[in-house]
Amino acid sequence: MIGHRGEDFKNLYRDVHPKLQTLFGTKQPVFLSTSSAWGVMEASIHNLVDRGVLCCMCGAFSDKWLDVARRCGKNAEPLQVDWGKHIDQKEVDHALASGKFDTVTLIHNETSTGVMNPLPEICCTLAKYPDVVLIVDTVSSFSAMQIDMEALGIDVMLTGAQKGLALPPGFSLFSVSKKGFARAEKQKGRGYYFDFLEFKKQQAEWMTPSTPSIGHIFALQSKLEEIFEEGLQARFDRHAKTNALVHDWVRCTGFDFFAEEGFRSKTLTCVKNSKGIDVLAFAKKLREEHHLVIDPGYGKLRGKTFRLSNMGDETEETVSQLLECIDAVLK
Ligand SMILES: *Cc1c(COP(=O)(O)O)cnc(C)c1O
Repeated sequence: MIGHRGEDFKNLYRDVHPKLQTLFGTKQPVFLSTSSAWGVMEASIHNLVDRGVLCCMCGAFSDKWLDVARRCGKNAEPLQVDWGKHIDQKEVDHALASGKFDTVTLIHNETSTGVMNPLPEICCTLAKYPDVVLIVDTVSSFSAMQIDMEALGIDVMLTGAQKGLALPPGFSLFSVSKKGFARAEKQKGRGYYFDFLEFKKQQAEWMTPSTPSIGHIFALQSKLEEIFEEGLQARFDRHAKTNALVHDWVRCTGFDFFAEEGFRSKTLTCVKNSKGIDVLAFAKKLREEHHLVIDPGYGKLRGKTFRLSNMGDETEETVSQLLECIDAVLK
C-alpha cells in the first residue's frame, strides 16, 4: 500500500486523470469519491440545490432521488412517468417554465427498467434555462458510449464503479462544471466529506479530501489501461453488438421488452415476462446449473421482468454463452 499524501499517490492520480477527462468529455477536474454512487448523488443535492429541485423519475433509482432530496431537507418535486417510459424534454421544459426549480436530477440509463433517456434532447431544453443546473447519473452507461459532459452542458456528471466500469463496488467518480462550482460556492451546509469545493482544492494538488480507497484507484488505473488499449470506438461498438445479440434473442424467443421502443438501453435489457414463466425458479436454475447470475426484476418488477446485462467486460462470446444457457434452462 502507498500513502495518500505522498508522491506515489499523486502520480497515480496524475496517471488516471487525463483518461478520465476523456471519458467524461470535459477539461474540468474529475474527482475520486470513496463512496458508492449514492454518496455523490446525495452530495450533488447538498452542493447545488437552493430554491428547488425537479427530479425526473422513470424507475427505481430515479424515483429514489426525490426521496433523498427531501431527506436532505430540500424542496423537491417529481416529474414522474410510468416505469418503462422515458423522460420527455417537453415535459421538462413545461416544469422548468414554472420558475420553481434551480436544479434538475436525471438518470441517463435507468438500470431498473432498461430505459435510456434522450440526453441530448433534454440537455437542449436545459440550455434555455441558464440559471438551472443539471445533475446526470451515468452509472450504468458510462464508458459504454460517448457522453460529452461539456458539449452537452451537464453540471454534475457521476458514475459508480460496479456497473459500466465493471470494478468492485464502493467507489465513484464525478466531475463538476464551472457553473456547478459557482452554485456550490453559494450553498451553506455542504459539509466536508462531500464538499465539491474541497474536492477541487485537493485535486489541484493531486489529492482527495480524506483518505481514499487506494485499492479502487489501482483497479481503476488497470481498467483505464484496458479501455484505451481496446480503443473507445471499439468499446462502444462492442456494447452495441452485444446489446443487439440480446435484443435479437428477445425477439426470437417471443418475449417482449419492458422499455418502450426507441428508448432502450444499450447496456442492459429489461425483458418483460410476457410468457408468464416462473422467473425466480428460472434464475435459480441458471445459477445452479450454469453458474450464471441474472437479476429476476428490480423491486416491484420482481418476477414480472428479468434483466440481462451487456455492460463492462461482456463480449459477444460471453453474451452468446449466456443466451445459450438461458435457452437450455427454458426448454
Ligand atoms: C446501481 C445504480 C445506482 C446506485 O449505486 P450504489 O452503488 O448503490 O450507490 C445509482 N444509479 C444507477 C443508475 C444505478 O444503476
